[in-house]
Amino acid sequence: MISLRDLTVAQRSVLAVGGVTVLAALAVLISASEFDISPLRTLRSIRVGEGAVLETRYNPIAILGLGVVIAVILGALALAFNALKPLLSNIAGGGASGLTGDAVAKVGQKLERELSKVLGLIRGHITTNESYAKSLANAQARLQGLSEPEQVRVIVSLLVAENERMRNDSGELKKKLEESHKQIEELRSSLSQAEEFVLKDPLTGTGNRRQFDLTMAKAISACEQDRTSLSLVMCDIDHFKRVNDGFGHQVGDEIIKMFARVIEAGIRENDTVIRYGGEEFAIILPMTEQEAAKDIAERIRRQFESKKLTIRETNQKVGQLTASFGVAQYRRGDDVDMLVQRADAKLYDAKSQGRNRVAAFGQNN
Ligand code: GH3
Ligand code: MG
Ligand code: MG
Repeated sequence: MISLRDLTVAQRSVLAVGGVTVLAALAVLISASEFDISPLRTLRSIRVGEGAVLETRYNPIAILGLGVVIAVILGALALAFNALKPLLSNIAGGGASGLTGDAVAKVGQKLERELSKVLGLIRGHITTNESYAKSLANAQARLQGLSEPEQVRVIVSLLVAENERMRNDSGELKKKLEESHKQIEELRSSLSQAEEFVLKDPLTGTGNRRQFDLTMAKAISACEQDRTSLSLVMCDIDHFKRVNDGFGHQVGDEIIKMFARVIEAGIRENDTVIRYGGEEFAIILPMTEQEAAKDIAERIRRQFESKKLTIRETNQKVGQLTASFGVAQYRRGDDVDMLVQRADAKLYDAKSQGRNRVAAFGQNN
């Protein structure tokens, strides 16, 4: 069965627009024809003394039918919504990454084609090799029974021709393999560039939410498998709105970048920093207990608070910048959301306790 995933964005859009148009037309028709719901009801008369009282009862079969119609309409709406999602995310600024997603898929397909070409070449060469081996064996068998020099000469010239064919074939194969190798290297590099683009935040160069999902999924499964620890730090620049309001968005952007650099300088190679939102970052710390994570966060906090920033053009001092941190450690059975929620709750505590601090779970909570 064809699923939505098999369709291109253009095909999905046509489907979505078509679906929505049909539904809209249906809605207009129903309202224009003063939809009569009487088939849904059965009439039942009950006598009371002299007069007659009419009582209406809803017909269960008709109600069931209406239910089915509503379910079909809801299904069509869900389908249309699903189909519109990629378009909507493209329009809402995800365009570049959406297109890059397609580009990654295309490069992947090209790479696959190139690899199957190489496999084809090697298979072809093996077949030629086998036929060459057969010719040799054949010639050897025929040579044993020959006594006339002329007959030997014919077989030898056949062997020379066969050898020449094999040599050409090997040369051709080598050339084609070298071409393919070059192609594969180029494709591999565009693939890793595209992948990098898809997983990185363009402003800071740190990971983005996609990278967060991938890294967390891997970290949690490693944690479950090897029974190691994992900690997550959520951090957020304090009163950042004031920076934007006082110095402008561009200065704000520079400060977000600087915060990212401070975090990167404070973590190890195996740790990952993610721009989680505007001026909020997540730090994924595999093989790290909460106490060590707290120390890392504390070091980053102090480092950030010690930065003295001046705007070069105007010589204006930005003043002290601070950030708050929430730390949580992975507990067996947690999913990503549970861990994020706990780290977020602690970040909230750090903010409400006065900001510029690290909050973590104590022994009793
Ligand atoms: P708090 O101490 O409670 O975190 O206060 P805050 O002002 O930092 O927090 P809030 O979340 O209310 O404001 C964050 C601001 O960050 C609001 C938004 O305009 C700004 N922001 C979000 N993304 C960006 C960005 O990419 N660049 C800049 N310059 N500002 C951003
Ligand atoms: Mg903030
Ligand atoms: Mg914030």
